[in-house]
Amino acid sequence: MKYPKIIRTYCKYCKKHTEHSVSQARVRERGSLKKGSIERAKKRGLGRGYGNLGRYGSKPAISKWKRTGSKSSKRIDLRLKCKVCNKSTIRTSSSRVKKFSLE
Ligand SMILES: [Zn+2]
Repeated sequence: MKYPKIIRTYCKYCKKHTEHSVSQARVRERGSLKKGSIERAKKRGLGRGYGNLGRYGSKPAISKWKRTGSKSSKRIDLRLKCKVCNKSTIRTSSSRVKKFSLE
């Protein structure tokens, strides 16, 4: 799938159609000293109570032998940045794609 680098779409902050620059959103690693670290979350009192919301605590043992590679396509997350207010939103693609490129 080829996707344009600049699209004109609705911005929920400006409340009108504006130009947005498109980039592919990637999963960022959770560092031990970064703002999104688990240590920081625990100090702020997050991850307490019933359930870990899939974010906190130790990883399950099942992850070591879980079947991988069964799907050859995936949904792409796009990071759209408004050129007027410089705020960004993430949009998930509606269809699954094997190849993705911005042009
Ligand atoms: Zn905007």
